[in-house]
Amino acid sequence: MRKPFVAGNWKMHGSRESISNLLNGLSAQVDAVKGVDIAVCPPALYIDFVQSQLQGSVISVGAQNMAEEPVQGAFTGEVSVEMLKDMNCSYVILGHSERRSLYGETDAQVATKVQVALDAGVTPILCVGETLAERESGVMESVIATQLDAVLEKSGIAAFERIVIAYEPVWAIGTGVTATPEQAQEVHAFIRGKLAQADAAVAEKVIIQYGGSVKPDNAVELFGQPDIDGGLIGGASLNADDFMAICKAA
Ligand code: PGA
Repeated sequence: MRKPFVAGNWKMHGSRESISNLLNGLSAQVDAVKGVDIAVCPPALYIDFVQSQLQGSVISVGAQNMAEEPVQGAFTGEVSVEMLKDMNCSYVILGHSERRSLYGETDAQVATKVQVALDAGVTPILCVGETLAERESGVMESVIATQLDAVLEKSGIAAFERIVIAYEPVWAIGTGVTATPEQAQEVHAFIRGKLAQADAAVAEKVIIQYGGSVKPDNAVELFGQPDIDGGLIGGASLNADDFMAICKAA
């Protein structure tokens, strides 16, 4: 009853030439994918270019990050949610582990961004996940609970009707080591169960993507788990055949 959602996180990859090629590849195959919401998240600089290439396509466009500040102003180098809206972005990835670890984004900042995106009507893809050290030391659930609590406290449970969650174990991102379907399902069930404590109906509806080394050959098993509703795809989203194969698996 939840419609699967697959999003490509292109990270800091691409040129006009490579993006054109990738989009041509996606457009040639996307009609064969049914019953799945699909989005691509290019670097901000290319969002307008991607939108112009995807006119009339079922593929939506998202951003990879945005400023905490809701309106324009003296914030050199930043991109506001209003600008994303102006470029017809449907989604924005927030709290990706690379933003958290490389750029010091805190749970509180991520929660602020989520609320700013919601206020503007752009759907946040809220990333949560533990590091290997956290998993091995037994604090995985408390780390993920804390990441979710920051958003719950700021925006409330009802906001999760308009939030997509991406569970991305940090140790599986870009490493080629994916969580087993059982490992992923366990955490997805934990996340849904935690939200259900606040509101069972909202928890039942929320889309929870899995991310971390999803490839065509592991996607079917991962997406076959009861609480996994699609994926946030990094490396494999840069290859049209791979990304479309993953979308078909959802
Ligand atoms: P990956 O990245 O698929 O390359 O592991 C996923 C992500 O970081 O969103």
